[in-house]
Amino acid sequence: MTVVALQPATPGKRATVKNYVKTIINPINLTTYTNEIPADQMAALRDLYPGGHARLWGLSPGKSPVKRDGWSQLSPGSKVLFYTGGSTRSFTVLATITYTAENDALARALWSLDNGDPFKYLYFLDDVRSINVTYDELIPYIRTRTDWGLNHLRGFDVLDAKRSAGLLDYLGIPEEDRTPAPDQAGYGAAVHQGIESTDRAYTAVYRKEQSYLRALLIGGETAICDLCGREFGRQYLRAAHIKKRAACTEAERLDAHSVAMIACIFGCDALYESGDVAVNDHGQIVRSPAMRPHGPEDDYFRTVLKGRQCSKWFAAAASREYFDWHWRVTFKNTLGMPGH
Ligand SMILES: [Zn+2]
Repeated sequence: MTVVALQPATPGKRATVKNYVKTIINPINLTTYTNEIPADQMAALRDLYPGGHARLWGLSPGKSPVKRDGWSQLSPGSKVLFYTGGSTRSFTVLATITYTAENDALARALWSLDNGDPFKYLYFLDDVRSINVTYDELIPYIRTRTDWGLNHLRGFDVLDAKRSAGLLDYLGIPEEDRTPAPDQAGYGAAVHQGIESTDRAYTAVYRKEQSYLRALLIGGETAICDLCGREFGRQYLRAAHIKKRAACTEAERLDAHSVAMIACIFGCDALYESGDVAVNDHGQIVRSPAMRPHGPEDDYFRTVLKGRQCSKWFAAAASREYFDWHWRVTFKNTLGMPGH
């Protein structure tokens, strides 16, 4: 079961912004902190971050055990949502926790103290990405024991299993991204379980949906990809959900004409699905600043998509709210500063 932690990082205290830039916007170089990181922690971190650079955040003990208790529920694969406030009162970062450790010395070396306490309950992060989801949108999931609607009560919190699952559904995070990759034994068990039941039922539903949507959107033997504008034989085209399928409500899934577009499997479908490419609020196709540079993904964007407009965005005004969702939640945008 994947839990979701809520982490406020609003610029109420000036130190927050400084800390945020130091270890969330930028990763730290582990080698610089050889004296502060004990050998066992360093070995684990080297495995997780072969490049030697890691992003992390920390919690101070505080007066009650609330923060420590919440932190102790975190494990590899847990998700964390950073609330950075601003006029839209938004959560702007979603990340996956890779490792937790208590480390007083590293906390003191990295950050200022919190009323005399170091932020020593650490959690390290991976897949740190920009989102833009307001507090108001998430009220059904995040209204927990403290009322997050009130500034002064907003604190670190870990959601229970039910709320975590609801929130991850809302954000369209697929099941396979909610847990770390299984080891060999876990893989064997998963394959076995899949043969037994749920995977097969899921696949059947998914195939039915896909074939209905394809028939709806792709009339003839060929059609035009809504992203690259090239004409393909129908076997090379998918009905792609503009807003992630997992995040759609039933009503949205039934909104078939607006919620899906045609995307070619030659590259457009994969780049859009991963958030490396999105459609902005002028209907233009844009590249994520986080896309791996100089690789074939980048080549594809430059030769096939750069400067293009998305035909679906112009043809179907009702699709724009789904493109907007993808832009705010799936697209790998630049990390913003707290308070903006
Ligand atoms: Zn295409």
